[in-house]
Amino acid sequence: MGVWFARGGTGALVQGLVKLYQDLGGELQLNAEVTRLVAEGEHIRAVELKDGQVIPVAAVASNADVVHTYEKLLGHHPVGASRAASLKRKRMSNSLFVLYFGLNKQHDLAHHTVCFGPRYKELIDDIFNKNALAEDFSLYLHAPCVTDPSLAPPGCGSYYVLAPVPHLGTADLDWTVEGPRLRDRIFAYLEAHYMPGLRSQLVTHRMFTPFDFRDQLGAHLGSAFSVEPILRQSAWFRPHNRDSRIPNLYLVGAGTHPGAGIPGVIGSAKATAGLMLEALSR
Ligand SMILES: Cc1cc2nc3c(=O)[nH]c(=O)nc-3n(C[C@H](O)[C@H](O)[C@H](O)COP(=O)(O)OP(=O)(O)OC[C@H]3O[C@@H](n4cnc5c(N)ncnc54)[C@H](O)[C@@H]3O)c2cc1C
Repeated sequence: MGVWFARGGTGALVQGLVKLYQDLGGELQLNAEVTRLVAEGEHIRAVELKDGQVIPVAAVASNADVVHTYEKLLGHHPVGASRAASLKRKRMSNSLFVLYFGLNKQHDLAHHTVCFGPRYKELIDDIFNKNALAEDFSLYLHAPCVTDPSLAPPGCGSYYVLAPVPHLGTADLDWTVEGPRLRDRIFAYLEAHYMPGLRSQLVTHRMFTPFDFRDQLGAHLGSAFSVEPILRQSAWFRPHNRDSRIPNLYLVGAGTHPGAGIPGVIGSAKATAGLMLEALSR
């Protein structure tokens, strides 16, 4: 039935979900980093925030990265420590280098463009196995103003381009150095092949590197899609939506069943909410 785009972008989708949640009576606290799940035996009793607040809970659903949840939030508990150790032996998916940019011009592009580099299988092999950044890249270029002009001022265009790159466990790169270098290479490539004059039209840009996936989102090794969805890490073999030893601890998001991507995490939210409702109504 085609590819659908939320007018206003992903932010509009988030605002829609926030509205639904609040209409249902939910209370939202933003900028409230959880630092610890307070356990008593095999039960979570409270959630501790960075500012020292301790919030008593009947149950917890953690949407943080699964390794982060067990290692950082529950590492003081034997279940957290052992789950974190076993999760860290799993293969994680690749990371991404994302470049968001705004131009004082709209280019004649499709909403979605995949720009294939000269190599395919070999590049994937480098991304998953090589302790270095490849010289070539394949890109996904997003031009949402084609569908929704409200995403930039009149006559201007907002874009992002992403390159799959190794996660920090595969390639131990210093992204404060590699980021600006890759940015310059990508801008030069786009200017030559897709967006003439790009660098002279640049109004603003922002990079999001594997360091940001790790430090801003708490993603283990800076992975962009969490536990890699290979056969022995899929379906039942993925981290479950409810912990089998701590029954009031639930997990949701890319690292759980069914997996990453918006449809995947919405599916995991449905599965987790169903399990919670069933348990709480007993
Ligand atoms: C550039 C890009 C493009 C993408 N495009 C698509 C696409 O077109 N279609 C698609 O289906 N998928 C796409 N994806 C993938 C999709 O966005 C992800 O798989 C999905 O957002 C993961 O959802 P999540 O809820 O598991 O994690 P997140 O969306 O990362 O949410 C987890 C949240 O938890 C917060 N958090 C972490 N630790 C704590 C803590 N201790 N205390 C409080 N909060 C915490 C984080 O800050 C974050 O906000 C894309 C991803 C990227 C990066």
